[in-house]
Amino acid sequence: MTDQTKDNFSGYFPTWCPGCGNFGIWAAIKAAFEKLAFNRENIAVVFGIGCSGNMNDFLWVNSFHALHGRAIPNAIGIKIANHKMPVIVVAGDGDCYGEGGNHLIHAARGNHDITVIVHDNRVYGLTTGQVAPTAIKGFKSKSTPTGVIEIPLNPIALAITQGATFVAQGFSADITHLTNLIVQGIKHKGFSLINILQPCVSFNPLTTYNWYRERIYKLENQNHDISNMTKALEKSFELEEKIPIGIIYQIDRPVYTDSLPQLKDTILRDVNLDIDMNEFIAEFV
Ligand code: SF4
Repeated sequence: MTDQTKDNFSGYFPTWCPGCGNFGIWAAIKAAFEKLAFNRENIAVVFGIGCSGNMNDFLWVNSFHALHGRAIPNAIGIKIANHKMPVIVVAGDGDCYGEGGNHLIHAARGNHDITVIVHDNRVYGLTTGQVAPTAIKGFKSKSTPTGVIEIPLNPIALAITQGATFVAQGFSADITHLTNLIVQGIKHKGFSLINILQPCVSFNPLTTYNWYRERIYKLENQNHDISNMTKALEKSFELEEKIPIGIIYQIDRPVYTDSLPQLKDTILRDVNLDIDMNEFIAEFV
């Protein structure tokens, strides 16, 4: 990986389509890491598969590119191995809500202390335009030429009801606001989901920059009570006419590793398990 720009976290310059919302998310993630004074070797970022996952090459950090839909379980494994280290997932809506939807539910109810950043462009971009779980009903794609029949998956409501303790929504074109959300999500102790509304300029002609700009409003200006689950769920169902961005829900609850007495005074990585790995591996050769 080469450091090609002046910030501390740029890898290779992105190959995304010109105008893609991924650029704004990339900028916000790097700005958030700068604000948090992260050292690239003391954090872990796990990427899913998709255009968003290609950020693995564009972000210069300690990272892992997981199988499709498996970014979250890999992140949980890393977190349990070293629960002192910030662990962040970067994935798309297809990867995280489609193939990996099951993992999202169980990570939320375990309140695993990871931050999941989802590029929600409502389409499979890398494979050139098939329908994704958050696509709006009626959306015409390569795989749904007469329009999507199903209603869209609601990631905000799903995360809140399954036990996530920080749930936020951002917009890829509002980089300052998004940076702040990412900083707060990473600082939060517990499972945090940041769903980012992101135009795909090549394969989603419906949810464009202008489509979002006409609908988005900021919760910070609304006196929204982020600790009130009922109010948060009301906001989560504002999907098309008006769309909230900001922190939608945040509460405190013990995280998964708090309940592991073995990890009270140490991290798992440093525990001497006294296992002869050669003997173990020999069983498989
Ligand atoms: Fe971005 Fe869509 Fe191009 Fe992928 S296909 S890089 S999401 S504009």
